[in-house]
Amino acid sequence: MGKLPLRARLATTVAGAAGRVSRLSGRGDGSVIGGVVGLRMEPDLLRLLAADRQIVLVTGTNGKTTTTRLITAALGAIGQEVASNAFGANMEAGLISALGRASDAPFGVLEVDERHLPAIMHATRPRVVALLNLSRDQMDRAAEIWLIARRWREALAGAPGCQVVANADDPLIAWAAGTAQRVTWVAAGQRWHEDSWCCPECGSHLRRDDLGWRCGECGFARPATRWVLDDERADLRGGAGVIGSADLRGGAGVTGSVVDSGGRVRELSLTLPGRANRSNAVIALAVAELFGVDMDQALPLLRQVTSVAGRYTQIERGGRVLRLLLAKNPAGWLEAFDVLAPPPTPVLLAVNAQGPDGKDTSWLWDVDYRVLHGRPVLVAGERRLDLAVRLEADQVAFRLAGSVDEAVDLVPPGGLDVIANYTAFQQIRTTLGRAL
Ligand SMILES: [Zn+2]
Repeated sequence: MGKLPLRARLATTVAGAAGRVSRLSGRGDGSVIGGVVGLRMEPDLLRLLAADRQIVLVTGTNGKTTTTRLITAALGAIGQEVASNAFGANMEAGLISALGRASDAPFGVLEVDERHLPAIMHATRPRVVALLNLSRDQMDRAAEIWLIARRWREALAGAPGCQVVANADDPLIAWAAGTAQRVTWVAAGQRWHEDSWCCPECGSHLRRDDLGWRCGECGFARPATRWVLDDERADLRGGAGVIGSADLRGGAGVTGSVVDSGGRVRELSLTLPGRANRSNAVIALAVAELFGVDMDQALPLLRQVTSVAGRYTQIERGGRVLRLLLAKNPAGWLEAFDVLAPPPTPVLLAVNAQGPDGKDTSWLWDVDYRVLHGRPVLVAGERRLDLAVRLEADQVAFRLAGSVDEAVDLVPPGGLDVIANYTAFQQIRTTLGRAL
């Protein structure tokens, strides 16, 4: 912090104090308000705080928080402090707070909201940008992902020094990263195909086979990859929106393997469940390699990550063991179904439609709920009736619950998986206590 200009130093100090006041008064973790206060005093604060550090930016529709956490864990092998916005405050103020709190850290691993990537790249001049996936977040934003990809292209074209790590299995990501000069392509898989039937280059229909995807018209095709998550094949057979039999194994305990850029193969067993997290982990390994951390150093560190901002945490409540899963959009729901404990473990689905969730719940119709057949299903949240109608259509039997505690009372002692969208997840966390 000694290198910062005086006004930036003062702004960082005041931002930290504001954040602490906010935390003490119980208004969240304080990272946003602290950053907002700092920005008022020094509009250039993010650029100043990022200067002279090696910055990694992580973005995409799903998996940002987890991948950021995994990269941070892997870089632990270097033995120096890493600044990170571990709790997902992923716009300018949250990033300022994260860097301000760790002012001497030579590394910064930062999750970035996908809409803000160009501005954040401009301010932080990242050494590495990791691009995970792009899919509709809510129905009212479906068209926006094409616009976002276009803006990424422009930003990456203007950042020749930046190394990109990108998921080659997502056509829109491949297109977005296509203007970058240096790309490490990763075969990280893609379960959700509904937003990538069309060629981003020419609009024609994309074809998929065991080798990936390609456009029959213009020749735009999946790039050759340096890193491979090997359970990708099951993914391709599963097809769009269909849960293939290979995916019904319950997620937890299922391992894949990873092939690194040198062709070495290792088992990819994580403590975090599900193939979405294995996908995040392969991206994290590819990023870590760019910092000289090889797979054998990084894998044990990735295994030590047991929960991410309350997700996957198990908590006891009334004799039941609850496990919280966050699913904010159709692709996220597929990923959450993938990690459910096998039947007859019950599942509670909780849906709200407040601002951060999107007001429109019609995206519920994009999700295939038939995978829930054969297990007790409970439905809660402010929009539980919307979800109930949707489940009726898929002939999934369910019971309504007024709250998470009511759901706990309705199920026998044992496990209860909870899938919730954003504000419903936060409400449940609050109910269960900040121990999470
Ligand atoms: Zn094409």
